[in-house]
Amino acid sequence: MGPHAPILKVAFDTPLRQCFDYLPPAGGALPGPGMRVRAPFGRRWAIGVVVAGAERSELPAGRLKRIHEVQDAVPLWDPVTLGLLLWAADYYHHPVGEVLFAAMPAALRDGTAALGARLVWRLSAAGAAALASSPRLGPRQRQLLELAGAAEADAGAIAAAGLGATLRELARRGWLESVERPPLAPESGPGAPGPVLTADQARAFTAIGAALGNYGAWLLHGVTGSGKTEVYLRLIERVLETGRSALVLVPEIALTPQLLARFRERLPVPIVALHSALGDSERLAAWRAAASGTAPVVIGTRSAVFTPLPALGLVVVDEEHDPSFKQQDGFRYSARDLAIVRAQRQDVPVVLGSATPSLESLANAAAGRYQLLSLPERTGRAGQPRLGLVDLRLHAARDGLSQPALSAIERHLGADGQILVYLNRRGWAPTLFCPGCGWVAPCAACDARLTVHLRQARLRCHHCGAEEPMPFACARCGAELRPVGEGTQRLEATLGALFPAAPLVRIDRDAIRRRGDIERALDSVASGRARILLGTQMLTKGHDFPDVTLVVVLNADQGLFGADFRASERLAQQIIQVAGRAGRGDRPGEVLIQSAYPEHPLLQSLIAEGYAGFARRALEERRAAGWPPWSRLALLCADSPVRAELHAFLCAARELAPADAAGGLRLLGPAPAAMERRAGRFRARLLLEAQGRAPLQRLLSRWLPGLEALRRPRGLRWAVDVDPLEVD
Ligand code: ADP
Ligand code: ZN
Ligand code: ZN
Repeated sequence: MGPHAPILKVAFDTPLRQCFDYLPPAGGALPGPGMRVRAPFGRRWAIGVVVAGAERSELPAGRLKRIHEVQDAVPLWDPVTLGLLLWAADYYHHPVGEVLFAAMPAALRDGTAALGARLVWRLSAAGAAALASSPRLGPRQRQLLELAGAAEADAGAIAAAGLGATLRELARRGWLESVERPPLAPESGPGAPGPVLTADQARAFTAIGAALGNYGAWLLHGVTGSGKTEVYLRLIERVLETGRSALVLVPEIALTPQLLARFRERLPVPIVALHSALGDSERLAAWRAAASGTAPVVIGTRSAVFTPLPALGLVVVDEEHDPSFKQQDGFRYSARDLAIVRAQRQDVPVVLGSATPSLESLANAAAGRYQLLSLPERTGRAGQPRLGLVDLRLHAARDGLSQPALSAIERHLGADGQILVYLNRRGWAPTLFCPGCGWVAPCAACDARLTVHLRQARLRCHHCGAEEPMPFACARCGAELRPVGEGTQRLEATLGALFPAAPLVRIDRDAIRRRGDIERALDSVASGRARILLGTQMLTKGHDFPDVTLVVVLNADQGLFGADFRASERLAQQIIQVAGRAGRGDRPGEVLIQSAYPEHPLLQSLIAEGYAGFARRALEERRAAGWPPWSRLALLCADSPVRAELHAFLCAARELAPADAAGGLRLLGPAPAAMERRAGRFRARLLLEAQGRAPLQRLLSRWLPGLEALRRPRGLRWAVDVDPLEVD
C-alpha cells in the first residue's frame, strides 16, 4: 500500500462478505494492513481492521466516511499470517471480517491495546478485610486471597493454579483489583537433554533438519510411542538455535498436560500454550508473548494456527488426522490444511505427525506432495500390541463385556497389568425403553434418543444438551422403564462389581469437567493406584499409559456401518490409537476388539496388515466411489425451524448455481442431514463435487453473490463448508 493510497479498505465483525471504503484519519500516519481502526459504521462506531489500501472507491466522494482513530502502532499480525487469514477467508468463502475478528484474542475486539501492559491482580482493601474477618470463605477463595495478598498474581498463574473461576468471582465482588505492569517473559525450562535418537528418529531428524529454511511438507508416520514428539523437540531446538520460532498444533492441550510439561522441560525458552480453556486475559497475554517474540514456541489447538510469530521457522501438526483440527461451525476451516498453506507462504517446513495418518495425507505422500518418513518401531522394549477379535455371536456379553474379555481382564489384573476399557459412549445407557409398549424416550428437539444418566436420575440429549428428570414408569402404559445398552457409567458399575479389588478411574466428558480433573485422573493411573481405566475418545488423545497391558474395545461395530464416507477411517484410527496406549513400557500389550461382524473386511485388514494395510484398501474404495481425496467437496448447509422453507430455499439455491459441467462438477441434493432435526431445527444440504479445487472454487465464487441476494426466510441460516469432514 503506497503512501498515496487515499482509500482504506476496512473489515468489520459482521457477516457481510465485503470490506468497506474509508478515508484515512485526518492527522497522523496512515494505518497499514492488519491495524485496527475506529470508524463510523452504520449508525454506530465500530472497531475494524484495515485490509488494504486502494487508489479509488466505487462510492461517490461525498458518501465516504473518515476513519476516526487508529488503535495500533503496528499491525496485529505479521504479513504472512495476515496474508494467510485473507487467503482463508477467500478459500473457505467466509466473511473476511468474521475471520479476522475470530483470529484475534477476544480481548482485542473492543480496541484494547495489543501490545500493552500485563494485568496483575492484588488484594483490594475490601478483599483484605474479607480475608481478615470473613469466616465463610470457601477454600479456593481463601487460597486466592492469600496468593494475591502475598504478591501480585498474574492471571496466568492464577489460572494454572485452577483458580480462574474464583478470580472472576472475587474480581466481581471487588475483593481483587487489577493493576498494569510491563510484560513479563513466560518462564523458561531448564533445557534438559533428550535421549540418544534411534536410527529411525535420526533419519527423520536429519532429513527434515537439512531442509529447514525452505518449504517442504513431511508426513511423519510413526506408531504410538515411536518417538515422534522427540523428533519435533530436536527440530525445534535446531530452529531456536537459528533465532527462529516454532508453531506446534495439537488436538487438545487441556487433556494432555504431559505433552506441555515435556516441552517446557526440554526447551530452554518461554513457551506459551493457546487453547480453549484460557480466559480472555490469559489468552491475550499468551498472544502478546508470541506476537512480540518473547515466547518463540507456541503450542496450541486449532485456532493457534493464526498466532502471529516473528521469524517462524517450523510448523508441526501433531496427530494430524484428528477431526478437531476442522472447525465445524461458523468459520469452517481446517487448521491442518492452513498449517500447510502457512508453511508454504513462510517458506519453512511443516511436519505432520500421526500413528494413523488421514487418507488425504497418505494420498499426498503417495503423489509426492509430502515426503513420507516412517518410525515403524517403538522406542521401548515392548513390541507392537497383539490385536485380537472377540466374536460377539459366539460369546454373549453381559453389560457389554464378553466372557473372553472378562477372562483377559482377570488374567492381566492377576499379572499386575493395568486395563484400559474403551467405550465411546458416555452416560449410563443410550436408551430408556418401555418393555410394556415399546416406547423409547425421545429428545423433543432432535431426531435422537435421550441418554440415561442414572446416578443423576436425568435424561440428557447428547446432541442439543436438553435435560429432564428421568421417569421411572411409562406414561403410556405404566410399566417400569428400563435403560437399555451401555455407556461408561453403567460399565463403571459393572466392572466395579466384578472386580471390587481393582480401583477404577473413568475418563469421559462427564467425569472430567474442571481444571485439574484430568491431572488427578492421569496421576492415579501413572502412580498405579488405578488398575482399570475406562473411558471414551478422551482416552485416545496422546496419553502415555506405560503399564497398560490390555485394551478392550467394546463397541467397534458402531463405526462399521456409519453413513458417512469417513466412518470407517475414523473407526480404524480410533482402534489403532486406543490400541497404541497399551504396553508402551517394557510389557507387550494385548488388544481385544469385540464385534458381531468379525469377518468385516475393515477389521480383517486392520488385524492382518495394520493401519497401513487398512489405509491402502480404504483409499482404493474411495477411488472407486469418487470420494476425496479423489474428488473435492463443498457443502451448502442450511437449517431452519420450518422444514418446507428449508427445502424451498435449497431448491432455489440449486436453481441459482451457474451451470458448469467443466471439471466434473456435480451438484447433489437437497438432502436432509443424517440427523434431520437437531435442537429444534431442520437441517439439509446441497453437496457440490468436483475433480479439483479450481473448478469448485470457481463455481463457489460465481454462486455466492446470488445466494447472498436470495430471499432468506426468517430464522433460516446457511453456510458454506469447503472440504467438509462429514457429509451425512
Ligand atoms: P510418540 O510421540 O511417537 O508417541 P514419544 O516421543 O512420546 O513418541 O516417545 C515415546 C516414549 O519413548 C517417551 O517416553 C519418550 O521419552 C521415549 N523416547 C523417545 N525417543 C527415545 C529415544 N531415542 N530413546 C529412548 N527413549 C525415547
Ligand atoms: Zn409403555
Ligand atoms: Zn436433543
